[in-house]
Amino acid sequence: MTKVVKNNPENEINLPVYTLRVTSSLSGIPAHSIRQYIDKGLLIPYKLDSNRHLFSEGDIRRLKHIHLLIHERGLNFAGIRTLMSLIPCWAIRKCTAQDRQECQAYYDNSIPCWEASEKGRICKNENCRDCGVYNCWVGDRDLKTVFRELIP
Ligand code: SF4
Repeated sequence: MTKVVKNNPENEINLPVYTLRVTSSLSGIPAHSIRQYIDKGLLIPYKLDSNRHLFSEGDIRRLKHIHLLIHERGLNFAGIRTLMSLIPCWAIRKCTAQDRQECQAYYDNSIPCWEASEKGRICKNENCRDCGVYNCWVGDRDLKTVFRELIP
């Protein structure tokens, strides 16, 4: 059975409490690299009204995993985006055939669904940072583990 993971922003691990500087120091990843990961759509930070970003413990795990993919597995940004695009969001969100037809994420294999400019009905007004699709691949879980859990 497909497991739908809904991220709870109230969970301690998801609370955005760290500034960029603190996140950089806790993760050991330079601030300019973190900014790059955000620009490439690999990480969605929490945005304050002032447009400054805050990060959570979960974000730090995600950052470390992205860093590992780049520096130990030899992937580049396009490779990671392609991997992220393979997450079957339409199955996790249980999109109808019509939803899929209207959604760029269903067809595009070069960007993660949260980067799609044309999203289906179900996702139009969602905050992707809190979505189970965005959050299903974090920390030290590789994508195959995620797929095994989603599709037993
Ligand atoms: S809400 Fe965002 S992250 Fe979730 S499936 Fe839709 S586009 Fe993807």
